[in-house]
Amino acid sequence: MTRYTAKALPRQPGVSGWVAMLPDRRPRPALLGAVTADVAIIGAGFAGLAAARRLSQLDPTLQVAVLEAGIVGGGPAGRNSGFIIDLPHEVSAESLGSDSATHARRDIFKNRTAIALAQGMAEEHGWGPEVFSLSGRYSIARGAAGDHHLADYAKQLEGLGEAHRLLDAEETARLTGTRSFSSALFTPGTAMIQPADFVRRFADALRDPVTVFEQSPVLSIERQGSGWQVTTKAGTVAAGRVVLAVNGHARSFGLLPRKLMHVFTYASLTKPFDPALLGGERNWAATPALPMGTTIRRLSGPEGDRILVRSRYTYNPSITVSDAALASAGRVHDRKLASRFPDLAGLPMQYRWAGAMALTWNSVPVVDEVDQGLWLAAGCNGVGATNATANGIVAAERALGHLSQLGQHYAEAAPARAIPPEPVATIGGKAALRWKEWRAGDE
Ligand SMILES: Cc1cc2nc3c(=O)[nH]c(=O)nc-3n(C[C@H](O)[C@H](O)[C@H](O)COP(=O)(O)OP(=O)(O)OC[C@H]3O[C@@H](n4cnc5c(N)ncnc54)[C@H](O)[C@@H]3O)c2cc1C
Repeated sequence: MTRYTAKALPRQPGVSGWVAMLPDRRPRPALLGAVTADVAIIGAGFAGLAAARRLSQLDPTLQVAVLEAGIVGGGPAGRNSGFIIDLPHEVSAESLGSDSATHARRDIFKNRTAIALAQGMAEEHGWGPEVFSLSGRYSIARGAAGDHHLADYAKQLEGLGEAHRLLDAEETARLTGTRSFSSALFTPGTAMIQPADFVRRFADALRDPVTVFEQSPVLSIERQGSGWQVTTKAGTVAAGRVVLAVNGHARSFGLLPRKLMHVFTYASLTKPFDPALLGGERNWAATPALPMGTTIRRLSGPEGDRILVRSRYTYNPSITVSDAALASAGRVHDRKLASRFPDLAGLPMQYRWAGAMALTWNSVPVVDEVDQGLWLAAGCNGVGATNATANGIVAAERALGHLSQLGQHYAEAAPARAIPPEPVATIGGKAALRWKEWRAGDE
């Protein structure tokens, strides 16, 4: 009898500021007793929710049960920096030959398909710009290496016909209220979300015949006739098909051995401050010019403004991080805040947290039927607001035998390459992250 048993369940380190800033919400009830469904989805992050939405678009009569281990919004999908990015990070790495142009265009198509799904939800349910907004993003530089990278990237975008605007140091200071940045590049197609609010509303908008069960960690998935029995602590779902959308925790079910690298990243959010203390615009969001640098987001709200700092990556094959790692990243965030915003000297952080991501060696997604009727959507590769959403869309389509253009692109992509055996993977993974962070310097 085929059975996949969860060897570990997710734990969410620290206190996510995105959740803490929201009013209380009554979670959907946990699964109790035995239910049946056409499709069971495990995990209510970007991938699981997108899969639920896509299934109900393709067949509104499908009975779908979504099982989330924790509270919706408490996991990585609700604790990220909120960028649903349309353009690939790395088009500027090489000059665009026809292969890399095709690759970049496919990436953009994937990302925009994901953004369209999120935008469709926001428009259908009337969510305001504080939840979802097509406000674009800045890439921001703090020195010559970053400036150079942005100028190169702008040329590549030109070649792709993608809208963008370079800002010099003066314009960047007008945007950010600080002279700590040397240039920026604006691209208009990124959607910004309040991630916890977005995924909560997303889950709450899913209605019968889609049912979301929270606080229902799946302990096993077992073959039952031609379908599967999914078991939680207090209930079971008998389903014809299963979509496992737990990102790196696929490994906890014994799936994708040696295919996923488990990396955490960290964020801190300041206490609110009086907006008069810092010039510039009151709502902007910037990813770093150089990969592995620091993300900064300024938010305005009724109690004042806040700054989000996201930086540090750690390699954690245990899919957990210690309090010490969280505290250490927090000290880095404090230094980054102080060096970038001297006008906010002494402003303390109020919340600090971390979240898990799963990367593949060659940065490809994994959407596969790993066993008959058991579909996997994994490999967010660090930008799961787009990648995991797209993975969920494709997993849903393929589970119903539907082939879209996006699904066709996935089918033509290279398979995920195996990572080296232990301990080489961990030693190499840690060393590679350190080296890349060192190269990013103060960016
Ligand atoms: C601080 C931070 C900033 C980030 N910023 C960005 C950003 O701006 N843009 C971006 O694109 N990405 C960002 N990311 C990455 C992004 O959050 C992830 O790539 C994304 O959440 C992955 O989506 P997912 O649906 O694949 O997995 P997850 O969001 O991890 O969702 C998987 C869900 O499965 C659940 N689960 C696991 N095991 C079980 C089980 N046994 N039973 C039931 N449920 C289970 C988990 O609780 C979880 O809710 C950031 C991440 C962090 C931590």
